[in-house]
Amino acid sequence: MPPDNQFSDWTDRHAGCDPMVDELRKLRVAAHISPTAILITDAEARIEYANPAFTRTSGYSLEELVGNTPAVVQSGETPVETYRDLWQTIRAGKPWRGRLKNRTKSGEVRWEYQHIEPLTDAGGRITHFIAVREDITESRARMKALKLRERAIEATANAIMITDVRADDKPIVYVNPAFERTTGYRADEVLGRNGRFLAGDNLAQPGLEEIRAALRGRREGYAVLRNYRKDGTPFWNELYLAPVWGEDGEVEYYVSVINDISERKRQEDQLEYQASHDALTGLPNRHLLRDRAEQAIQYARRDGHSVAVMTLDIDRFNFVNESLGHAAGDELLRAVAERLHNHLGALDTVGRVSGDEFLVILGAINEADEALDVASSLRRALSRQFHIVGQNIFVSAGIGVATYPLDGEDADTLIRHSGIALHRGKEEGGGTLQLYNPSMSPGPADRLELETDLQYAASRGEFQLLFQPQLSLRERRVVGAEALLRWHHPRRGLISPIQFIPLAEDLGLIVNIGQWVIDAACAQLRAWREAGVAAVPVAVNISGRQFRHHDLTWTVSRALEHYQVPPEMLELELTETTVAQNPEMAAATLRELKAMGVRISLDDFGTGYSSLSHLKRFPIDRLKIDKAFVRQISQDADDAAIVRTIVGMAHGLGLDVVAEGVEGAEQVEYLRDCGCDILQGFYFSRPGVAECVLGPFNLEEFTQDEDAASGGATVP
Ligand code: C2E
Ligand code: MG
Ligand code: MG
Repeated sequence: MPPDNQFSDWTDRHAGCDPMVDELRKLRVAAHISPTAILITDAEARIEYANPAFTRTSGYSLEELVGNTPAVVQSGETPVETYRDLWQTIRAGKPWRGRLKNRTKSGEVRWEYQHIEPLTDAGGRITHFIAVREDITESRARMKALKLRERAIEATANAIMITDVRADDKPIVYVNPAFERTTGYRADEVLGRNGRFLAGDNLAQPGLEEIRAALRGRREGYAVLRNYRKDGTPFWNELYLAPVWGEDGEVEYYVSVINDISERKRQEDQLEYQASHDALTGLPNRHLLRDRAEQAIQYARRDGHSVAVMTLDIDRFNFVNESLGHAAGDELLRAVAERLHNHLGALDTVGRVSGDEFLVILGAINEADEALDVASSLRRALSRQFHIVGQNIFVSAGIGVATYPLDGEDADTLIRHSGIALHRGKEEGGGTLQLYNPSMSPGPADRLELETDLQYAASRGEFQLLFQPQLSLRERRVVGAEALLRWHHPRRGLISPIQFIPLAEDLGLIVNIGQWVIDAACAQLRAWREAGVAAVPVAVNISGRQFRHHDLTWTVSRALEHYQVPPEMLELELTETTVAQNPEMAAATLRELKAMGVRISLDDFGTGYSSLSHLKRFPIDRLKIDKAFVRQISQDADDAAIVRTIVGMAHGLGLDVVAEGVEGAEQVEYLRDCGCDILQGFYFSRPGVAECVLGPFNLEEFTQDEDAASGGATVP
């Protein structure tokens, strides 16, 4: 050990002689090797001793220090009050502790923590001062930096949460004030809990999966989450999450920064809403409708069903605007919007495209016919009175319908075609419901192709007649069948009659096609008779133009004769619109047909004029209630009541009543209760090949035993 001074030489020389000396030697060595700087002065503050830690940190050699006062290391930056206090304290014989700023020999100013202890003799007089000093420059800087960061964490607007990932269930060990503000939880309510409670029951959200993956992978993570405040209100937030690694290389903590983005989300949503919705009615606007239609088409393409697009407008809307003012017009549009919206199903969309023009998209339909049913029920819904600015207003609406895939394969085409259909309907007088057909579009190649194809459809054997049984509840048997035409187009697949019959009418092809149908029906009747089965009357549909054509009676009588079919086995279905167009002529033709012995029924009753006078005026045998009413029986009390009234009224006139479109057991039950005579619909059988009229059918549960008729071709 290097000698420091004479004293150390002396103690070394006397080592082992006296226990006191040994004690002194130990203390001297301790002072010598101490990492803490030690300085000893006499009572006049003259330095007697400085340990190596002192000389090393101050930069002064022992020679430079001994005999000097500690003033050599003073920086001049410590306030004089501190020195005054120091001197007063130690001169009074008391220890002093405090911080001083000293300067090294090279001029560097360092913070030091000093403890100075006065040493007194037996008489109580101070003989020495012993100063121990620790350099706190670095730790002070560290503390300061930490304080600053802590302050930043406390002051930031972002919520911060620290979790201890080593403890069981990874409890929260720190949250900042912003966390308390954002979530509404006080720190003491969350410390010690796992942070998942913030997500409430919403633990399946995709963002949480990302967070879990980050935790598993011991990496940083980011997610947008929907969390809940203490009061239960949800808030959207971005969560950043970063691991804090311990010295052993394991993750100790996770720091999460939670950024409340509810307001931003709300603004984004609002912007998006404004860009996609109509301000007046709150319904989707043209852009959103287009998207929805496109989406519906995609689903339909995948699942093989159909989509209908309908353009609807209010007849004489300008009249309301002009006579009652624009405010009333707006109110009416809102009321119409609401009614349309309430009338549609979850898969359907209604929106406003302009003025009084609305667009409806039926997301999943099986055939165009279904769209027409919905369209006519929408029209009926709108025909009920509106109460606007203290007035009762009645409106009617025109609807044009186009369906995917037949009328177009993309949203724009369907929207355009439904508009064309609507305007074609308007030309024929307001309040119409019109299905698009290619003949409406001015001369596209499409139309030409379809026209040509239709001309040759019969000769190419593309037509097929399907049969749908009609059942008598009372007699528990099939009492008839309706013949329904199908066109198997070689390229376009199956085309519905409601799509090609109007085209055939336009082109004048209906007479020939109608003749083919009557022949085919009679041929079937004969085949049945020859086979000795079924033999129930068959009803064929006669369209308007076909009915007005002078050849009809001749065509019918020729077919009956040719196939040797008794006339009462053939029934003709006509719509009210058909007979109402020229009542005199219609009455005459019907009388001629009646005289031949064929039966006449009025089809789709309820959708046209539904007038009692027609029923009395024409020689009609039965009345077919339109399926739009039947469909609604179980949902709409008005429709249910209408059906009951129609049945009562028809029976009063001595007519049979057929309900078509029966799809469910509740409908059968209600119709039986109304006293309806004959039922037809998917519930019993879809239209099919001739054999399908043979059954079996599920009638048991609806038939009261005492009513069951004896004899006849009872249904198994
Ligand atoms: P319609 O005469 O009212 O025929 C009934 C329609 O309802 C048929 O549609 C039938 O398939 C459908 N239908 C039957 N039961 C149900 C059911 O339970 N639910 C639903 N939603 N629909 C049911 P289809 O065969 O598509 O015929 C549509 C229309 O085309 C017919 O309506 C008729 O007006 C016309 N049509 C069909 N065949 C001919 C024909 O040979 N000549 C003429 N001129 N028109 C025809
Ligand atoms: Mg029919
Ligand atoms: Mg019908």
